[in-house]
Amino acid sequence: MIVTRFAPSPTGLLHLGHAFSALVAYQAAREAGGRFLLRIEDIDPVRCKPEYTQAIFTDLAWLGLAWEEPVRCQSDHGADYAAALDRLREMGLLYPCACTRRQIGELAAPQENDEAGPVYPGTCRGLPEAARAELAQTRACVWRLDMAQACARVGGLTWHDAGRGEVVADPGRFGDIVLARKDVPTSYHVSVTVDDALQGVSLVTRGEDLLAATDIHRLLQALLGLPTPRYRHHPLLRDASGRRFAKRDKALTLRALRQAGRSPQDVREMVGFGDFSL
Ligand code: GLU
Repeated sequence: MIVTRFAPSPTGLLHLGHAFSALVAYQAAREAGGRFLLRIEDIDPVRCKPEYTQAIFTDLAWLGLAWEEPVRCQSDHGADYAAALDRLREMGLLYPCACTRRQIGELAAPQENDEAGPVYPGTCRGLPEAARAELAQTRACVWRLDMAQACARVGGLTWHDAGRGEVVADPGRFGDIVLARKDVPTSYHVSVTVDDALQGVSLVTRGEDLLAATDIHRLLQALLGLPTPRYRHHPLLRDASGRRFAKRDKALTLRALRQAGRSPQDVREMVGFGDFSL
């Protein structure tokens, strides 16, 4: 049984790019007689707003999508992410880091990683246990993954993408990534990996902008003993001038299109789903 999901972050109104992505997931489930889930990725209390969550429900229903209830909202499930982080901590794979962005920029090795900014040079990795404990208790710190140790522990990994076939994972290129912060005690990588497993998602459909992140998710699955779904990274929808749709394109939000008198069928046609059957 195929289980897909659409997992928006409620940081703004949905636009045409979201409509396309949601329809890809929805159609993949329907064609296979599978299940379609909606998940609200609202771990960031500063950027996420309840009114945008409500707008997601309204706009997707208007577009013609139906999903299973209850919808999983990540802000309700901090304990699940904390448990995953504790497991990584028990394996000795997490360490606290109090370096500022400025320090990291200054110290980073010259070979920059184009997807995630400078690779962390590992300054706090070598701190003795007592210094780590003190840092974790007294200072604003983040928790980083000891990438070299993590990769050594699981060995070579691959994952499957519908358009690309078998992909060799190379999470090591990201260096010691941040997996939790004091203010947001999880991260996109941890919560998405845990949730896809907990919800039994078997096919992750999402934009190509998240292709690189899948290497990290594959690593976390291996470390945490979670199953690996199949993936389908779809091209990002672009406007006539080749630019990606973004939250700033106010005229192309589903809400604005609806208010301008467009029908759900008009919008589905605009994103290439004109033959969508309700
Ligand atoms: N919440 C992410 C976003 O809105 C998508 C996560 C995913 O599909 O894995 O960009």
